[in-house]
Amino acid sequence: MDNFTLKERFVRSIKGKKVDKVPVCSVTQTGTVELMEACGAFWPQANYDAEKMATLAIASHEIAGLEAVRYPFCTTVLAETLGCSIAEGSLDVQPYETDFPCKKKEDVKKISIPEDLLESRRIETILDATDIVKERIGDDVPVVAGMIGPAATAFYVAGAKNYLMWSITATDIFQELLAIGEAVCTEYANALFEHGVDAVIVIDSEAGPDLLPPPLFEPMMVPVYRSLTDKMKGLKLLHICGDSTDVIDQMADSGFQGLSLEEKVDARYASEVIGDRACLIGNVSPASTLLTKSQENIKKEAKQCIEDGVGILAPGCGIAPRTPTDNLKAFVAARDEYYIEKGLL
Ligand SMILES: [Zn+2]
Repeated sequence: MDNFTLKERFVRSIKGKKVDKVPVCSVTQTGTVELMEACGAFWPQANYDAEKMATLAIASHEIAGLEAVRYPFCTTVLAETLGCSIAEGSLDVQPYETDFPCKKKEDVKKISIPEDLLESRRIETILDATDIVKERIGDDVPVVAGMIGPAATAFYVAGAKNYLMWSITATDIFQELLAIGEAVCTEYANALFEHGVDAVIVIDSEAGPDLLPPPLFEPMMVPVYRSLTDKMKGLKLLHICGDSTDVIDQMADSGFQGLSLEEKVDARYASEVIGDRACLIGNVSPASTLLTKSQENIKKEAKQCIEDGVGILAPGCGIAPRTPTDNLKAFVAARDEYYIEKGLL
């Protein structure tokens, strides 16, 4: 039972099979300044250079002990590929959007998926980073790649105001944007799987209650997710930020095998609602716990998450860049302590 490789334990957990202990990793952003200093690969370059991206991603596993290698460190890869303007960020700021192409409804017609999508600058970097990661860590450590989902794609391409307006008043245009997002996600995700990524996490917070009224989730998002997940040829995970309590039940029916939820969601409640439909991933607060709390309190919250029924122990969202490595190590150690204290290891 305890002879699983990290990858076997991760895959079994996602599939709801029995494991000796839950994996502890991050399916969201893993780059921190301390890790950059330790491995010599820094932002902003590590967001654009495959070698540096791979080095920093591996550091969170080799140095901090997280049980997966996860990259990239931002959510702008598909956005830039579809024509958004992106600022490169800095040592502790992720790349971010500065302008978007769909100012008015007519502009949506002009958005197309590049024929050479996989050779576009940002996507090629991630695929190259995947090759480097696979070569360096071998086959026993799970590799997780993140990408924005259909709703986030629509949000980036149309801007916040249009997104909010069109989701209510121009649903045909809104759905057109979601369809573009679904198509681009499908092609990109399957290229990642072909390069050896084990799980793709679709970051789609813009579909959550913070931006989209919960009654719209079922009619607007679930069909898109079902269609997308049907076509994704590997482990598929969904991350939605904020308080997604009102849509957890629908998320669990959308075809994703793992759901990564923020700490605003009560883990015990979520695990009861989800049942065996998906693996609950989360949800220790990266900002108010991992970044700032004492190691003792980090461990306490991490153990409570396992107690509450998460299938994978992870931060509820991206790790803050200034998070101390020792805090991440305490987070990882908490998982082992939990099982020792319970007499299970
Ligand atoms: Zn998040």
